[in-house]
Amino acid sequence: MKITILTLFPEMFEDMLKTSVIGRALAKGCAEVELVQIRDFTKDKHRHVDDTPFGGGKGMVMKCQPVLDALSSVRTEGSHVIMMSPAGVKFDQQKAHEYAGKDHLIILCGHYEGMDYRINSHVDELVSIGDYVLTGGELAAMVISDAVIRLQKGSLAEGSTEEESHENGLLEYPQYTQPADYEGDLVPAVLLSGNHAKIREWRILQSLKLTEKMRPDLYAKHEFTEEELKILKKAAKEAE
Ligand code: SAM
Repeated sequence: MKITILTLFPEMFEDMLKTSVIGRALAKGCAEVELVQIRDFTKDKHRHVDDTPFGGGKGMVMKCQPVLDALSSVRTEGSHVIMMSPAGVKFDQQKAHEYAGKDHLIILCGHYEGMDYRINSHVDELVSIGDYVLTGGELAAMVISDAVIRLQKGSLAEGSTEEESHENGLLEYPQYTQPADYEGDLVPAVLLSGNHAKIREWRILQSLKLTEKMRPDLYAKHEFTEEELKILKKAAKEAE
């Protein structure tokens, strides 16, 4: 897949795109990222991308012309265009999967006071990464690109995202590594037992318990599998 990011600050993406899992995935060709400088589409000699808001008020608003010309230069029939905005639909793992399946995702980053409202009707969706206000859409675009690129085939070892938090509506079970005894704090014995059936059962139960404790909102809407119900029943019986 290809991700095109329209921004006034392409340099913000440089490290992210060459570091760790994402850097390796891009180097291997699992996805392609294109950065487009919106300022290159201005038509005045001062290269203004923003202006004062009609009706008064603080800050500067990004102008229609450079943003929409930049968008037209990269948009194709198959592109899906999202605009970063605190007013958008909340980004989550389901959305990450949805975008990961697109051939071409275009991410439009606002800055300053945001975009002229007329630009909204030229995009497919407004997307927010959470209920807070960032200085610009660049960090939000990085969050979305990261979540989407790591889902591309070849980015990570086969199957390694399947049991992660939010993949099945639950949080991941606790993970441990060496040493088994850290200053008296012991790794649960079942994980050292070599009994794969027991380990699987323990992990499912811990995932359920952790989700109930940390994210009761997710737990309340979880559709339990037969196996999960059986494990919960067994745990309740053992606790009697
Ligand atoms: N004046 C706008 C408002 O009150 O809704 C906020 C503009 S914000 C300072 C500038 C840009 O940052 C936005 O246009 C958007 O692209 C991006 N941004 C800020 N918060 C965001 C969030 N939670 N999710 C996604 N993008 C965000």
